[in-house]
Amino acid sequence: MAYVIAEPCIGVKDTACVDACPVDCIHPKKNTSYEDGRPGFEDVQQLYIDPVECIDCGACVPVCPVSAIFATVSRVTPPEASSTALPPTISTARFIVAVSILSSIMISAPPVLRTSPS
Ligand code: SF4
Ligand code: SF4
Repeated sequence: MAYVIAEPCIGVKDTACVDACPVDCIHPKKNTSYEDGRPGFEDVQQLYIDPVECIDCGACVPVCPVSAIFATVSRVTPPEASSTALPPTISTARFIVAVSILSSIMISAPPVLRTSPS
């Protein structure tokens, strides 16, 4: 299992989850510069969880005021191609967020009508 931060965080970014995380794996942090070139707190619309550092404790979930943090079913490995332009932790986090958003869209979509081949 892994935890991800989804779109409701956009525009809120109150860092309540950062304060609750026991292993400091929610980024970017305020007033922090990342040596690997990752964008800083002011440069992003929402925060993300580093899936490598996260210990799946769930402490961040109840403190989020907009219920933006979700547990995914299983850890996933991003495609090799997507990790060429970004640091591995960022590309992995973005891949997990994309899978999470796609899953929620598919769950809420109406059933598709099927026709028999003629
Ligand atoms: S599940 Fe636990 S370790 Fe992972 S981001 Fe949330 S508080 Fe941090
Ligand atoms: S607690 Fe929720 S809204 Fe606040 S920064 Fe974390 S994920 Fe975003």
